[in-house]
Formats: sequence, structure tokens, C-alpha cells
Amino acid sequence: MSRAALAIDGAAPTRARMLPYGRHLVDDDDIAAVVGALKSGWLTTGPAVDEFEGAFAKATGAGEAVAVANGTAALHAAAFGAGIGPGDEVITTPMTFAATANCVRYQGGTVVFADVRRDTLNIDPAHVAALVTPRTRAIITVDYAGQPSDLDELSALAERHGLALIEDASHALGATYRSRRVGSLARMTTFSLHPVKHVTTGEGGMVTTDDPELAARLRRFRSHGILSDFRRREQAGSWVYDMAVLGFNYRLTDLQAALGLSQLPKLDDWLARRRAIAARYTTAFATLEAVEPPTVLPDRECAWHIYVIRLRADRLRVDRARVFQALRAENIGVNVHYVPVPWHSYYAALGYRKGAWPVAEDAYERMITLPIFPGMTDADVADVIAAMTKVVEHYAR
Ligand SMILES: *Cc1c(COP(=O)(O)O)cnc(C)c1O
Repeated sequence: MSRAALAIDGAAPTRARMLPYGRHLVDDDDIAAVVGALKSGWLTTGPAVDEFEGAFAKATGAGEAVAVANGTAALHAAAFGAGIGPGDEVITTPMTFAATANCVRYQGGTVVFADVRRDTLNIDPAHVAALVTPRTRAIITVDYAGQPSDLDELSALAERHGLALIEDASHALGATYRSRRVGSLARMTTFSLHPVKHVTTGEGGMVTTDDPELAARLRRFRSHGILSDFRRREQAGSWVYDMAVLGFNYRLTDLQAALGLSQLPKLDDWLARRRAIAARYTTAFATLEAVEPPTVLPDRECAWHIYVIRLRADRLRVDRARVFQALRAENIGVNVHYVPVPWHSYYAALGYRKGAWPVAEDAYERMITLPIFPGMTDADVADVIAAMTKVVEHYAR
């Protein structure tokens, strides 16, 4: 076996400049769309928001889409929409970004973490079932890396116990589950439009649902709990409005909606590029004994927000941290998704203790996120494969 010299030991790096793990694409037509919004007379609460919601609902196959300020606000709105309050328990996954759990805390609820499946790292429906109590009110599942969760099993469980199923699809815009598009497979589905996600509005989020009455409540929540918005009051020539519930200012601006409207039609091409990159990685890594590529189940199509491999400790002379640093030294912008949420000091202070989610915790200790985004060139992909191959062969046991 060859043991090529590594950049971390002073050799030349695989590439001259750092390749990020994710990056947005903004073209001239996106810029023109935002300029158009600036000239339209509406900077916020204008027609572009309605139009973007309509286009997003169509793209996801949902009845309604409600635009909000970011993906975290989308989760908060969903927790509100599910009626989460003090004393309520919500079951979610430890293998996610903290916002998925935090939205339960915003509403005063209690977070219960269920362990994940070893293959997909999505929440394990059997573990969820075991954690349901009379206080359970909702399940928040996350489509980890862009692969839909076990939505039929989770829906059946939610129905059996009268729970709301919320799907955090921040990774999964454009994914399919049993030939159905993510967006109308749960009571509410939330998306993030942050620049590392599939389609961006700078900051932004969306909640989709098939229930128009629920969508109306979410629209009220995103605007202080007030029913009519400024434009509709102006149109009606009325000053009267009522604040019926305690809401927030979670509105998306027209500038952002215009950017989203310009980005959304590009989604299919970008998904195809993400899938092609993932396929190249998986083929290349099949021959590396120290690398476990991600598993995608045959009844679902992954949207590949991230590409996460797990290392096999028994095949390596060094730990994950060393492999990570060696890849960084090669100018491959690797990352780790995620530190298990209950490990954060905020959750530790609430009494959560390490060791309760052995599958997620073992995966965390071994995982590395590799760059994947539609603007990556074939040469960039080749660099990632070359660096990964060089580093794991160098450290092979
Ligand atoms: C990105 C992300 C969020 C938060 O979205 P923001 O738009 O950054 O607020 C929530 N959950 C998951 C799984 C995410 O990846």
C-alpha cells in the first residue's frame, strides 16, 4: 500500500485553495430579480411573498406554504401550530442542528431524544414508539443529510397516539419518499433557505401543510399574531386589526422572496448535480476499507444536503480528529454534522446525559462531512476523492 506524504506533515496540499463543504449559487438573473423587487415599491409584505409561497407549494406538492424569516422560525411556527406548551413532550432526534429541539423549548415544552437508525441516521420509529407517554404531543423528525425519514411508520405512530408529525426537511428540499415529494407527507414540513441549503433567500424559511386553516394560523404567528397584514388593510381602507395570539415578527421580505422565486426553478438541475457528485463519491469510496459511505434506502431519493461518511476505527492507526485535520490541511473543507444535540451544555444543564443514544453517539464519533454543492466542478470532486484516498491509505492499519 502506498503511503503518500500528507499536507499535515508538510507536503504540498491536494489543492491550492480551501473547498467549502457547501456554498450557494447566485447568478445574474437572481441579482436582477432582487433589483426588480427593490424597484417594485414593496420591500416587505408585498406581492413577491405570496408569489414565492405559491411557487414553493407547487414545487413541494403541498397545499400551502408559509414563508418565514429563517428555518428556525419555521420550526418555532410549527411547534406553535402543533399547540406545544409547558408540560408537553416532543420526541425528536439527537442527530440534528440544535434548532430542531430548541423550538420545543421556545414553547415551554420538554424535549425527548430518541436514538437513530444505524444505516440512515434518521430517527428510529421503534425508539420513538418506546418513548411515547400520555404527555407526548408531537414528533419532530429530521430528514438527515436529505434522506426522508421513515414517514409511513412515523405517521402511523402519530395517528395511533394523536400526535402531530412535524418533518424538519431543512436538508431535504426535492427529496422523495415512496415516489412522493417531501412537503406534504407530514402535518407540517419545515425548510431552511440559508445559503448552505438547496435554494437560498439569504436567510429564510418555509412551513408547508395541506391544512389551509393551519396555514392561516401560521401566517398570523409570523406577524405578531395579527390577522390581516398591512397590504390587505390598505386595500380594504381600514385601520382595524386584532392581535388574537402572541406572535412574532418572523416575516420574509419581498427582496428575499424575489431571490427565492428566481432560485426555485433551478432546484431540479442542482439536485441532479448533487446526486451525481454523491454517486461519484460512493463509487470511489467503495474500495476504501476505512470509509463507510452513506446508505440510501431503495424506496427514497436523497436530496444530498450533506454527504457524510463514517470512519472504521479498526482500519485506522489514528482517530477521526486526525483524519479531519489531515483533510483540512489538504484544503478540503470537511465538517461534522452533528454534535448530538443533548451533548450541548444548555441541554446538559437540563439533565440530559451522554450515553443514552448509543447509535447517534457512535456515528458522531466517526463521521466526517465532505463538500457537496451544485457549483462544485469535476476537478473539485476529484480533489476530494484524491485527498480522502491519500489520507486514509496513509493512516491505514
Ligand atoms: C439549517 C437547519 C435549521 C435551521 O435553519 P436556519 O435557516 O439556519 O434557521 C434547522 N434544522 C436543520 C436540520 C437545519 O439543517
